Amino acid sequence: MSEILIRRADVVVTMDGARREIAGGDVLIRDGVIAAVGQGLATTGSVVEAAGCVVTPGLVNTHHHLYQTLTRAVPGGQDALLFGWLQTLYPIWAKFGPEEIFVSAQVGLAELALSGCTLTSDHLYLFPNGARLDDTIAAAAEVGLRFHPTRGAMSIGESDGGLPPDSLVEREAAILEDCIRVVDAHHDAAEGAMLRVGLAPCSPFSVSRDLMREAALLARDKGVMLHTHLAENDEDIAYSLAKFGCRPGQYAEDLGWTGADVWHAHCVKLDAGEIDLFARSGTGVAHCPCSNCRLGSGIAPVRAMRDAGVKVGLGVDGSASNDAGNLVLEARQALLLQRVSKGANAMAAREALEIATLGGARVLNRPDCGSLEPGKRADIAIWDVSGIESAGSWDPVASLILCGPTRVRDLFVEGRRIVAEGQLATLDLPRLIERQNRLARRFI
Ligand SMILES: [Zn+2]
Repeated sequence: MSEILIRRADVVVTMDGARREIAGGDVLIRDGVIAAVGQGLATTGSVVEAAGCVVTPGLVNTHHHLYQTLTRAVPGGQDALLFGWLQTLYPIWAKFGPEEIFVSAQVGLAELALSGCTLTSDHLYLFPNGARLDDTIAAAAEVGLRFHPTRGAMSIGESDGGLPPDSLVEREAAILEDCIRVVDAHHDAAEGAMLRVGLAPCSPFSVSRDLMREAALLARDKGVMLHTHLAENDEDIAYSLAKFGCRPGQYAEDLGWTGADVWHAHCVKLDAGEIDLFARSGTGVAHCPCSNCRLGSGIAPVRAMRDAGVKVGLGVDGSASNDAGNLVLEARQALLLQRVSKGANAMAAREALEIATLGGARVLNRPDCGSLEPGKRADIAIWDVSGIESAGSWDPVASLILCGPTRVRDLFVEGRRIVAEGQLATLDLPRLIERQNRLARRFI
């Protein structure tokens, strides 16, 4: 039995049913699970002092394309709209292979960890030159994050009127075969799982209607989740109406793409009927505010979604369209964006923090994560609020979102300390950055 006691935090934000915040609070970890939360706890194990800190559940990232960290701030894509942006980047991504996928994933995962993330999904939808989902899984195992990779896919290439070059698309039979392989090889349905696989055709317009339906059937057969991009911008809606004769929500529902085991990225353009559909069916949303700003897609109706009871989590989205991957800053952006659209009382700092933690855990169907309560997994972020960012703050919990810091002091995943005193403990970060920059230079 191993114990770690996080002791005397300025505040422990539990995100439990009563949303308790415990001043001078402790969290006791035993064998990767939270054993107790309260004041004056004791241990015979090790102690991590947390005076001057706020302790929160680890943040949850519900949408990312980790392979894209190698193509941040690419000149031709900096100011382009979604389709032009994709056409700039596809030829570069087509040159990637297993090493690029592995290294860029490690960089993205390390960046997430340093910004307080303990659980992340990933959406990998291209597999050039022998790359496999397994490359990202190996990357996550080394960084130490809890990982929900999704096996993405594109099957409609240029010669079929699609956007991606033919070299980046796959045959649909081969896609389904590899979906089965990765689920059978890696998916862990057990409570406390460090790795769960999902199925994720890239978007309704990069695969056929048949593949969408087949993927949904396969996911239900295997008991895994479904994920894709939906209703991202006006062009997306226009395409759906022209090609499918219906809005994206209807298309998703017709093909089995609604339900508690489905979550969609963006959903910027959901209308009232679609919000109601998502609420009734338990369908989740990955809200990606920085990406939506970066690509000029619009402001997702998060206030209306939350009021209707839709499950909403946050996503940093791929680093090519953010271009940062800092999850706590994403929570801040979510708050700011709702206020731009709906006024200063549209989202409180505590609600943004709730979406970033509990909200994401609900979207990913992880009732064992997202809050600090006995029996939950020990995924915990410790934020040092004694620094310049928080100096003068009257409310250390709200200041996490309104002021900073933007990096964690310590991060625990399944009770393992993967960030210690602000440094990644699992990897040699300077070496990783050097390796990433060396790879990036090959494509410039
Ligand atoms: Zn995306």
